Amino acid sequence: MAFARLALAVSIFLSLVSGVFAQDLKIYFIDVDGGQATLFVSDSGETLLVDAGWAGHENRDALKIAAAVKDAGASRIDWMLTTHFHADHVGGVAQLAGILPIRTFLDHGENTETSPNSVRTYEGYLAVREKGAHKVLKAGDRFAFGSGTVHVVSSRKGLIARPLKAPGAGRKTPGCAEAVEKKGDGSENEMSIGFVLDFGRFRAMDLGDLLWNEEGALVCPENKIGDIDLYLTTHHGSKPSGNPVMVNAIRPRVAITNGGAKKGGDPGHWNAVKAVPTIEDRWQLQKSVLEGGVHNVADEKIASLVPQVEPSWIKVVARKDGSFTVTNSRNGFSASYGQRR
Ligand SMILES: [Zn+2]
Repeated sequence: MAFARLALAVSIFLSLVSGVFAQDLKIYFIDVDGGQATLFVSDSGETLLVDAGWAGHENRDALKIAAAVKDAGASRIDWMLTTHFHADHVGGVAQLAGILPIRTFLDHGENTETSPNSVRTYEGYLAVREKGAHKVLKAGDRFAFGSGTVHVVSSRKGLIARPLKAPGAGRKTPGCAEAVEKKGDGSENEMSIGFVLDFGRFRAMDLGDLLWNEEGALVCPENKIGDIDLYLTTHHGSKPSGNPVMVNAIRPRVAITNGGAKKGGDPGHWNAVKAVPTIEDRWQLQKSVLEGGVHNVADEKIASLVPQVEPSWIKVVARKDGSFTVTNSRNGFSASYGQRR
């Protein structure tokens, strides 16, 4: 009896110790049909959801997110970060709030678009935001996420002015003088919150739907971002984003694109990522049919081969030494990447 009690005490102690010291960072890149929904789970179990996909479709995207939250062993959203107020990012927040508790809402401020559809979507978001805490994020802000740190690098057209403290940051970026500019679109895309998440030596970056010129300004003339291990291709991998000067400067090792069958996944953008000398691998949330579907990675690295209602995601488990493992929920296919060479 005494032995049984001791064994129980030891096992509780060991599980507490592993909970404190041995947890990894988990990231779920959830397929929401060309929108964005990325769930981060910290080493202490906090949840940060970046965007919540589309509204409508009988709660399709909210249910997909809830499935990922459940898979992670969590039951609520601690931080709901909305990169910008387009329907493929903020649309699903209100429906998600009907399924899971959301504690704190993070965004760039007020919606800048005035079309009836945009206003209606935004009002749906405000109705749920009012029920939780709310904080506006500005470029240069940072906050702890478990034992990691989230660095906000862009928000409402503001960009960080000084380099982050990171490997590769602070250097002069090659190609800035010859870099071409593209016309902005004046929409919410340019307002996107972008951030870098540092977890030990592992670094991930998500710039929402930020556009080409802002991407360039983050690395020109000096690189303010530094080396990134895991890169979510900006703006669903679409044409107005993916500035090669930036994509090369951040020296990504693995890229994931959140395009839909006919949205984003632009062949030029995807080819620019493929051509980066440091890139080791690429994954996709949906298979693209653009240009006859020749610009896709192998099927085993695509979460959804066709748009689907069933939940699917690409899951990343990252360790503090900078190594990480990527797994496709559809088929269990998995690949591991060691520390940066
Ligand atoms: Zn978008």
